Amino acid sequence: MMDSQRCVGLVESMTKRVLILGGTGEARQLAGALAEHPGLHITLSLAGRTQNPAAQPVPVRVGGFGGAAGLAEYLRSERVELLIDATHPYAGQISRNAAEAVQAAGVELLQLRRPAWVAGAGDDWRDVEDVAAAVEALGDAPRRVFLALGRQEVAAFAQAPQHVYVVRSVDPINWPTLEHATFITARGPFSADEDEALLREHGIEVIVAKNSGGSATFSKMEAARRLGIPVLLLKRPGWPDAPFVESVEEALAYLEKRGV
Ligand code: NAP
Repeated sequence: MMDSQRCVGLVESMTKRVLILGGTGEARQLAGALAEHPGLHITLSLAGRTQNPAAQPVPVRVGGFGGAAGLAEYLRSERVELLIDATHPYAGQISRNAAEAVQAAGVELLQLRRPAWVAGAGDDWRDVEDVAAAVEALGDAPRRVFLALGRQEVAAFAQAPQHVYVVRSVDPINWPTLEHATFITARGPFSADEDEALLREHGIEVIVAKNSGGSATFSKMEAARRLGIPVLLLKRPGWPDAPFVESVEEALAYLEKRGV
């Protein structure tokens, strides 16, 4: 008869350890869909930026790994066999680290790349290289600007104090040098009607945003379309070369096909 320690060891050896890099709705949904899979042990990793992160359906670890080398070390020590990079399309650094770490640790990688929004009739979207280019594109004349950006990006707009800003972010931004600014702390999804009302209320003339893709934050784009407001979209950082899918459903199908 097998003793209990050997039995636990055998079950563990049959269980595939998966690490999901998260911070997105897709990561949470994917973790939820895989949570009850008997052959998988899922851990979700968050950067720890958000003060009140959403509840997650699987065990969570929080905080940076210490670059690609730190992540590779984590993959080895935790005996991770599959890394799923389901981070936000603008979280370029962690995606580069993930691609480098799997090489070093000999681990399989799957990226979940959320597709970008594509402009349709009535949209006035202008791509800008980065935040500095967005500041430049606002021009010299004072304008009323809606910034749908995070703390790191907003700082650059202090260079253009002639504009009036409305800043909406998930976490509070304390940026005293941005003089003429209203700060709104809110987490999507929002509705297009709400966003249209917000843009009207503040007399917004131009929006600066990320092409995040997905439905949770598209409302401002829909509202901009209705009101004929131009949107400056920051360029996406791009993804390192690796196998990828574009939705949670595709990820589940990919894993099933591979016998995971
Ligand atoms: P980033 O610039 O690509 O990453 C910076 C550093 O943060 C990484 O080098 C890593 O630190 C740590 N990190 C990032 N994501 C992590 C994760 N899931 N688990 C553990 N450590 C992580 O990332 P970011 O743009 O600051 O985004 C941070 C997190 O917020 C990501 O998880 C992302 O999915 C989420 N998010 C980002 C945006 C956005 O617009 N950027 C929007 C919504 C959600 P070490 O090098 O020390 O490992």
